[in-house]
Amino acid sequence: MTLVSLVKDSDTSKAVKDAVELVGGIDVKGTVLIKPNLSCAKPSGSGLVTNVEVVKAIVKIVADQGAKPVVGDLPILGWDPKKVFDATGIRAIEDAGGELLDWSDDHVEIKLPNAKVLKKTSLARPAIQADAIINVPVLKHHFFTHISGSMKNLFGLVEPNVRPRVHVLGLDEPLVDLYEFLKPKIVLNIMDATYIAQSVRPSGPYYGPTEAESVSNPNVVMVSRDAVALDSIAAGVVRINPNDIEMVRIAFERGLGDSDIKMVGNARGSNLKIKKSLIGKLLPYMADMWTSESLNSVAHPLAKRIYGKEVVSLKEARREMENAGPSDIIVAGECKKCGLCVNACPAKNIALDGDRPVFGDNCIKCFICVEICPGGALAIIRK
Ligand code: SF4
Ligand code: SF4
Repeated sequence: MTLVSLVKDSDTSKAVKDAVELVGGIDVKGTVLIKPNLSCAKPSGSGLVTNVEVVKAIVKIVADQGAKPVVGDLPILGWDPKKVFDATGIRAIEDAGGELLDWSDDHVEIKLPNAKVLKKTSLARPAIQADAIINVPVLKHHFFTHISGSMKNLFGLVEPNVRPRVHVLGLDEPLVDLYEFLKPKIVLNIMDATYIAQSVRPSGPYYGPTEAESVSNPNVVMVSRDAVALDSIAAGVVRINPNDIEMVRIAFERGLGDSDIKMVGNARGSNLKIKKSLIGKLLPYMADMWTSESLNSVAHPLAKRIYGKEVVSLKEARREMENAGPSDIIVAGECKKCGLCVNACPAKNIALDGDRPVFGDNCIKCFICVEICPGGALAIIRK
């Protein structure tokens, strides 16, 4: 049997401390890597990154044991970590005694001997060198994987330049491979549900940078030694069937999590009452609708109302791409000419031609360009 604690308290530091103690506390020494979610330049409290108050409370617990707390994460490919550190407010952990690491240029090649698909990759050296890891995801919806929880949070340890390969390998199984590799080092998973980004969606009518439709503030912290059990309970908390989460299903199947779960704490059995508006319910279907030949005529006017008049129709987007060669990526919205997609493309398949990107014939379908486009201008054609 495995324990999952759920503690609700408006005092975040107390919520963290109580939730940790309810699963037996921690006993750490040496260097402890605390790994929050700093995936994008959104402020603490947005529900899209880990609440800095949660991280500060963990830094204090680790420092009180005489261990050395270090904190780090790298955002999605193409985003500047320093800007993300500034925007999230994570530098405040230094006042609490933590050291903030930027390992942009410090990764190490590793082999994953038991992996099913991700046989080798490149990981942040501090994760390999740390004596222990405390995994600190934020609980949020994710339009690809339903929730972004404990196992997915570990993706931030993979060198950004090699993340496209993990996407190409299917995301779920390779991330379970990664969890299996790191599991012996992860002493705790502390999930931040103090703020939850509800109905997280791409910023356009397709896969792309995320925005929260709305954010709730349930003030809950959830803790377990077992990331799979924690993700399973977290899914239920936001009313998603854990069996629908491929990553959780695979991890249980591979024996990496204990399905005999006991919940403890004053918020056990909680349903965090995420309410979805009509638009919130529609959004997950928008990508499929907008990129479908038959449904685009219905989805396009709706997409323009939700996302703005710059969203073009599928026909217009296809016309823009006529000279661009075979690709599943199209320019669907207004390109701000920032060049992020050009620099991020691992296949060097994109060039800026005047006021729009053009795609070559070498696409490996990693969809990183669509993910990082800050204006949500790029879309994926569904076939
Ligand atoms: S053009 Fe293709 S290879 Fe390049 S980033 Fe986009 S999806 Fe990946
Ligand atoms: S498509 Fe997006 S990422 Fe690429 S240059 Fe235009 S705005 Fe920037």
